[in-house]
Amino acid sequence: MPNQQTQAIRIQTDRTNEMEHSTPMFLTSSFCFDTAEEMRSAFADESDDNIYSRFINPGVKEFTDKMVALEGAEAGYSTASGMSAVSGSFMALLKQGDHLLACNSIFGSTHTLISKYLPKFGIEYSYVSANATAAEWQAAVRPNTKMIYIETPTNPGLEILDLSMIGKIAKENKLIYNVDNCFATPVNQKPIDFGADLVVHSATKWLDGQGRVLGGVVVGKKELIKEIYLFCRTTGPALSPFNAWVLSKSLETLDVRMERHASNALYIAQQLENHPAIKTLRYPFLPSHPHYNIAIQQMQNGGGIVCFELAGGIEAGRKFLDALKMLSLTANLGDTRSIASHPASTTHAKLTEAERIAVNIVPGLIRISVGLEHKDDILKDILQALA
Ligand SMILES: *Cc1c(COP(=O)(O)O)cnc(C)c1O
Repeated sequence: MPNQQTQAIRIQTDRTNEMEHSTPMFLTSSFCFDTAEEMRSAFADESDDNIYSRFINPGVKEFTDKMVALEGAEAGYSTASGMSAVSGSFMALLKQGDHLLACNSIFGSTHTLISKYLPKFGIEYSYVSANATAAEWQAAVRPNTKMIYIETPTNPGLEILDLSMIGKIAKENKLIYNVDNCFATPVNQKPIDFGADLVVHSATKWLDGQGRVLGGVVVGKKELIKEIYLFCRTTGPALSPFNAWVLSKSLETLDVRMERHASNALYIAQQLENHPAIKTLRYPFLPSHPHYNIAIQQMQNGGGIVCFELAGGIEAGRKFLDALKMLSLTANLGDTRSIASHPASTTHAKLTEAERIAVNIVPGLIRISVGLEHKDDILKDILQALA
């Protein structure tokens, strides 16, 4: 088996008679059969023939196969967005009366899905702190707990959860261990190596890496993915073949891009760490990070996000954003272009102050998604805005 980096480049849909080098886009909603018998057997799941692009499309399969290889998974299914990957993994595998145990520091829409919509279907949930010990995780497991769901590093607080410690709790209690690996990407962190049964992604972020398309993917154990596939092909959050083509091409450069994002981010973090306008700064690969020891055990690098707290609180945060000249103010992250955001006044403005503090979103928190511009240009813009 070739190295995963090679597989991300070389896994490819079979060449057509045109002998193209780059995979063409298969912009077709359905696929033809030569005979009634072939069509019957495809519908009866006796063959892998393409039927309809809500089920599968060659370009979507190519992207999925690459992600399966990168994460070291058995199988996968790609979806229209990260949220449809997350919701598909919940709705296909949880039923009325089940309990979902999640980390409290999770993506905003995932929190809404868990706390507002799962209860409508009779699915219970509870949260554990990102800093919980093994004993606290174990104490939170209930007789009806079915799944553990976490993110690491968390957004935007950059908490690092111990993948292996939580994996052991999941295994001992026979729970499905579901990890959102969006922030790290598989070139930086492989949750399956630490016991994850499922890994979900927003492909919209680093996997695309250029802020162009929405997408999602869930990979993991074959029998679990089968259920998610059957749920999604029925409910319809299929990944568009166009987006799949863009995303599959993006994976060819994921490894080199993430290396540069991370080295730029480490540089920015080191340069800013002792700046007088910054109260605290977080980057997983700085020894000052409270979970540095866990980060270096489970991650290849510190990733592309740097967070810091401005001494002046919420007003200083808004002023800082207004003073930036190059960095973009936008809701996305994981782009070639560096992005700054102020969670307390934007993505997490709907939470109460107490709720924000509970997940480490202090008023002056700034999140930088470090891009691929020259590191000194990124630093220069941040420094002049701090000044
Ligand atoms: C963006 C994001 C999602 C949701 O992905 P979409 O593609 O926007 O639906 C889920 N988890 C994390 C950690 C994210 O950053």
